[in-house]
Amino acid sequence: MINFNVPPFTGREYEYIKQAVDAQKICGDGQFTKKCNEWIEKKTGCAKALLTTSCTHATELAALLADIKLGDEVIMPSYTFCSTADAFVLRGATVVFVDIRPDTMNMDETLIEDAITDKTRAIVPVHYAGVSCEMDTIMDIAKRHDLFVIEDAAQGIMSEYKGQALGAIGDFGCFSFHETKNFSMGEGGAILLKDEKFVENAEIFREKGTDRSKYYRGQVDKYRWQDFGSSYLPSELNAAYLWAQLELAKEITDDRLNTWNMYRENLSHLEEDGKIELQKIPEYCKHNAHMFYIKLKDIDERTRFIDHMKANDILTVFHYVPLHSAPAGLKYCRFNGEDKYTTRESERLVRLPLYYGLKKEQTQYICEKVEEFFK
Ligand SMILES: *Cc1c(COP(=O)(O)O)cnc(C)c1O
Repeated sequence: MINFNVPPFTGREYEYIKQAVDAQKICGDGQFTKKCNEWIEKKTGCAKALLTTSCTHATELAALLADIKLGDEVIMPSYTFCSTADAFVLRGATVVFVDIRPDTMNMDETLIEDAITDKTRAIVPVHYAGVSCEMDTIMDIAKRHDLFVIEDAAQGIMSEYKGQALGAIGDFGCFSFHETKNFSMGEGGAILLKDEKFVENAEIFREKGTDRSKYYRGQVDKYRWQDFGSSYLPSELNAAYLWAQLELAKEITDDRLNTWNMYRENLSHLEEDGKIELQKIPEYCKHNAHMFYIKLKDIDERTRFIDHMKANDILTVFHYVPLHSAPAGLKYCRFNGEDKYTTRESERLVRLPLYYGLKKEQTQYICEKVEEFFK
């Protein structure tokens, strides 16, 4: 059986977890969290990165920092994971969806301005499959309308838009280190802050509303309850697991890119024959091989395709039933404009297995079985 995903593991994880245990520091913000934070800052150029318990929580933290309140509106694509919307719905905001572009499955930047009202507070671009949204346009709209940009870069670590790291372009960026992402800590994530001025509040909200971060740095002799907050910091055990992968980030990414390129080379003739569509990577975007997907004719063909692959011991999956059609979407959200591509394209898309350590022979075998389906 070829699984759809296998959590990343480099072999150094045990040693680092042991070090955390031996140091008798297993709660949050120890040496491994610090190493991971600094690695992200260096890699992306953001002013500050803080590990969190998930990307969902990083997005909640961003919503708190942007002071999103009851009655505010936030613009995002409907083709995304529910976490993107959850963070804002929890604040009492209304989520306003715009349609996606069929080439990248990202929000169509030309539709954003029409969705802006006097209640709009933020734009939330989702970099699907680690392929960047059209950030120049989005940042320009945000600037003109005085809106926050909160990047859902859950899938975008190591990807770039015109040389800038995803997650560090908007005011706030959110990474995921869930076991299905390129680098993992089991459950976990990070928030990236572009501007120093948010660091103090971010630290307070993340540490139950206290200034414990300042206390750790010796800047205050006692920490106290300063403001509202929650517990968004992960355990050192999780951070130790993650550090083993961030250290080998290039090796992991190259391995994934090799698989991605092999899929592309082997399957491009099916696209030339008009049988499938392959992922489009705009030339200004450097991607991280988070995902390899193909698009079929329609939902029926996709169902038959998934069954065919399963019969050959290969697990392929689709995802994101558009949020606007989900029960919570009907309650908390509205779709601005026409759903021209969101539903149609989401029903055609299927993801092939892609993970660190997937063998060449396995990729070859998967390609043969994809070809067999179209014979
Ligand atoms: C995985 C993912 C999330 C959620 O990440 P968690 O770390 O599991 O909270 C949010 N948005 C997108 C686009 C994702 O792919």
